[in-house]
Amino acid sequence: MSLAAGRHTLAIPGPSVMPERVLRAMHQGAPNIYEGALIDTTHKVFGQLKDVARTEGSVAMYIANGHGAWEAALVNTLAPGDNVLVLSTGRFAKGWAEMAERLGIHVEMIDFGTASPANPAVVEERLRADSTHSIKALMTVQTDTASSIRNDIAAIGRAIASAKHPALYMVDCIASLACEPFEMDGWGVDVMVAGCQKGLMVPPGTSFVFANERAKAAREALHQVSPYFDWKPRFEPKMYYQLFCGTAPTHHILGLDVALDMLLVEEGLEAVWQRHATLASAVWAAVEAWGQRGALRANVADRAHRSIAVTSIHTHPGDAGRLRHWCEAEANLTLGIGLGLEEGSSVPKGESLFRIGHMGHLNPPMILGALATTDAGLKALGITHGQGALEAATRAVGQASSLEIRETG
Ligand SMILES: *Cc1c(COP(=O)(O)O)cnc(C)c1O
Repeated sequence: MSLAAGRHTLAIPGPSVMPERVLRAMHQGAPNIYEGALIDTTHKVFGQLKDVARTEGSVAMYIANGHGAWEAALVNTLAPGDNVLVLSTGRFAKGWAEMAERLGIHVEMIDFGTASPANPAVVEERLRADSTHSIKALMTVQTDTASSIRNDIAAIGRAIASAKHPALYMVDCIASLACEPFEMDGWGVDVMVAGCQKGLMVPPGTSFVFANERAKAAREALHQVSPYFDWKPRFEPKMYYQLFCGTAPTHHILGLDVALDMLLVEEGLEAVWQRHATLASAVWAAVEAWGQRGALRANVADRAHRSIAVTSIHTHPGDAGRLRHWCEAEANLTLGIGLGLEEGSSVPKGESLFRIGHMGHLNPPMILGALATTDAGLKALGITHGQGALEAATRAVGQASSLEIRETG
């Protein structure tokens, strides 16, 4: 017997659950790409993307996943031989840095490990020591989706400012945009990259690079930029097709149109952030209860440094894999695999760590259902764990909601 009938539940950190309304908006024949509604919708979507990023800068849209936006950000700002400083807190800044190296950029990495965030004081000290300003850019991620660390992007921005260093500040918000509070202009970020399939709730396939005037000046100083990824015609198109360097991603624009209205107009961005914080607190309460006995524990000990979009959870070697397989086969729940943190250990990738994604189109029945099912899996498999996870999780949701009710009267 399997209990896996009924609706499939996805609890991974991207692609995230897609709203039916977004899918319905995408489910139509190709529209007129020369004139009419699609052109207006595109301009509306571009404006709303900047609202989500909290920037007056520009945004370019690429028909690519997040890796494409990574490459676009690099080739518009840096040339072979340039030096960059990368702050690593897991897997994703490393991945971006590896791409930079393949483009001939010299990478200096400060590795803060896989369980705590980048330390702004260390960043400031390193930048102050660079008296010749040889470092052209500083690259990091807001949420590292493998470790589930959240870096303090505002504090790192202040560190760069107080070191009076001109390096471009480039931030990967692929897993955090429209989940975590983020203020591109307010925090001094020059370049930001994001994708559509995580907080923005649209199927994978488009990604975005946001740039301010400083970043655009860096582009102007380059001798050569790869033509497809060049952001300049995309920022200053003379013809509609130049926005995309070819055919528009028509259906992604239709999907983004609905998703951005849901986030910005119907719910409100601050409320979206608050919902993510509340649902994350339910996940953390459950994980902490499980951890009262046995090996389960959140990868990031301090709640203040945890992402509110994804949580990475350690288990005894092998248990994470068994648990994921049970949830998939017996309960139609997909949990996230562990990603790249076990490097150098004897444990097979993904077998001692799993992740719960809690980003995007998510509410209490979805996340409490995923937690309850995971709890059932622990019991079915005889994995030692503390009791009371569900009580703790529902209390977290109830408390956050009652606080909110009191605040709003
Ligand atoms: C998902 C993710 C990426 C990669 O995005 P793809 O769309 O898979 O290429 C990069 N950085 C972070 C932080 C991510 O979460």
